Amino acid sequence: MQERMEFQTEARQLLDLMIHSVYSNKDIVLREVISNSSDALDKLRIESLQNEPLRGFWSDPNIRIEFDNQARTISISDNGIGMNRQEIVSNIGTIARSGTREFLTMLKSKSEGGESVNSELIGQFGVGFYSTFMIADRVTLLTRRAGEPEAWQWESTGDGTYTIEEAERAANGTTVTLHLKPADQEDVMNDYANEWTIRSIIKKYSDFVSYPIRLRTEKPATDDDTNEDSNGEGGGILTEQGTVIREETVNSMKALWTRPASEIQQAEYNEFYKHISYDWSDPLRAIHFRAEGTFEYFALLFLPSHAPSDLFMRDGARGLNLYVKRIFIMDDAKDLLPSYLRFVKGVVDSEDLPLNISREILQQNRQIQLMRKRITKKVLDTLGELRDSDQPQYGAFWKEFGSVVKEGVYQDEENREQLLGLGLFDTTHGDGKTTLKEYIERMKEGQEGIWYIAGENLSVLQNSPHLEAFRDRGHEVILLSDPIDEIWTGMVTDFQGKKLQSITRGNIDLGSKEEKKEQEKERQEKAQEFGPLLGAIKERLHDGVKEVRISNRLRASAACLVADENDMTPQMEKIMRAMGQEPPRSKRILEVNPDHPVLGKLLAMQSNNLSDPQLGDYIDLLYGQAILAEGGDLPDPTHFSRLVANLMVQA
Ligand code: ADP
Repeated sequence: MQERMEFQTEARQLLDLMIHSVYSNKDIVLREVISNSSDALDKLRIESLQNEPLRGFWSDPNIRIEFDNQARTISISDNGIGMNRQEIVSNIGTIARSGTREFLTMLKSKSEGGESVNSELIGQFGVGFYSTFMIADRVTLLTRRAGEPEAWQWESTGDGTYTIEEAERAANGTTVTLHLKPADQEDVMNDYANEWTIRSIIKKYSDFVSYPIRLRTEKPATDDDTNEDSNGEGGGILTEQGTVIREETVNSMKALWTRPASEIQQAEYNEFYKHISYDWSDPLRAIHFRAEGTFEYFALLFLPSHAPSDLFMRDGARGLNLYVKRIFIMDDAKDLLPSYLRFVKGVVDSEDLPLNISREILQQNRQIQLMRKRITKKVLDTLGELRDSDQPQYGAFWKEFGSVVKEGVYQDEENREQLLGLGLFDTTHGDGKTTLKEYIERMKEGQEGIWYIAGENLSVLQNSPHLEAFRDRGHEVILLSDPIDEIWTGMVTDFQGKKLQSITRGNIDLGSKEEKKEQEKERQEKAQEFGPLLGAIKERLHDGVKEVRISNRLRASAACLVADENDMTPQMEKIMRAMGQEPPRSKRILEVNPDHPVLGKLLAMQSNNLSDPQLGDYIDLLYGQAILAEGGDLPDPTHFSRLVANLMVQA
């Protein structure tokens, strides 16, 4: 006997909203229904394990989809747990969870305020089944609970009431039939009674559902079909009407990430990587782990072997694919990784997140924060292992992605030490690159800090006059020529307790305490001797230089420019200008080498004739050389080249 019943008030309100609001993405309806079927199969599997009499019901678990373009229906069947009458009434007719009720109030106020409600919000609260009314004006549910004799048919047009009556169903499971609204271009409703629409939705959203999703098609028989002796090769059945019925599994079911890493071949990882990354080459490394405990999830991540072209573009593709219990939720889930790991590709599959969690919620979700932390750590640890175990491979990785990883040095204070430890840097020691740890191991006795020099061009750095005293005394210097180095070195003070020190800043004294004392004494004597000359140089160069002093860092060169401890470097100024900011103008310090013949010559010139006009030209040349030696731009190149030409003529 058919009974007509009313939806619980909240359920009715929700239905109303579903029907009358405009949602952006109706494709999710199919996903929701498939996901319910997949859950029903999960439940049967679990119950059949716990409950002896149900054991026989667990066989060939599957989800079947049929559609009829003439009748405009699509039905989704499963042979899962099914529902009895009471379960239908309480599961479908009411909204049990308080979260959903709150959500409803929020939805209502939004829609009353004239706002359209987006579909991402909906699934979050598990109102999946009601979403069917977004695309259907009548929904029928035929279900039979495993182990029970009766089947039930439930039907509603979403008008606030539903009917329920006893029915026939040969076996356990549920069939949901959607009587589709007309396909509508304007309201962006696809034609869901269409093979290709269905296929593409399954591929996109449910490919990794762990049960086969079989799509039944009926097409006019071709010659190939009729020529065959019996049923066609592809399992097709020839009907009397001259059509062929086929059933085909559409999803790949390959939830590779849920399988134990020990059972997975590298080739499988590679294929999967290509599928998700649109990259043609094999990944450098797969990172596969399962997090257990409060939050359970699988993660299968990949380090690509090449940097994609959009790595430094603002809207480049990034982030991981997020799944919840094997159901695809979204790609580009940016919140699962810090931006300095944006090259990492992969899948994270959570056991606990609500289905269809929205991007907005993702940002605030505590669980996501914890996952991000753990995933970050895992990637950094893997990089550390790679660095220690396979130098050539790690070198190749660093070449591609080092600049991005270095962004983390100033973005991620928590992992700063580890990130610095991952860096590979050019150095004055040998040909190859070095880590900071290796540098520290080689440090001279008494050397307190890690010396570095930063600039735009490696070969300019290698020939920099600033290095002379360091070379002379066998002190190693890190050479930083990546533009981003200017940024992180400006924010990092030390590594493993060793101070990071620029050799182009402040005063430099190398050697033992006694030696330093000796050097200082010598410097003061020279400062006395050269006093008037230093004064004349300063006067001549006052536009660009704030101080002229005797240097301890020069050997072969006559002069170099240095910065005060807290001054901005010229490279940093350039970066700021490139970003459209005008840096505060900071003058440099000119250091001169008193032992260089040029300085001797200048000194002599000055003592001979205080107002020798050539003295000014020579000072300009000295200054120009110092600028050129660090790869800088001359303030007046024409003037400089005329001075050089004059010198050549005189010679
Ligand atoms: P959710 O799936 O988030 O619980 P839904 O509105 O999609 O919310 O479904 C409501 C309930 O209806 C489910 O929790 C489940 O108990 C029941 N249900 C829906 N589809 C099926 C199905 N195919 N087989 C068995 N039970 C189902």
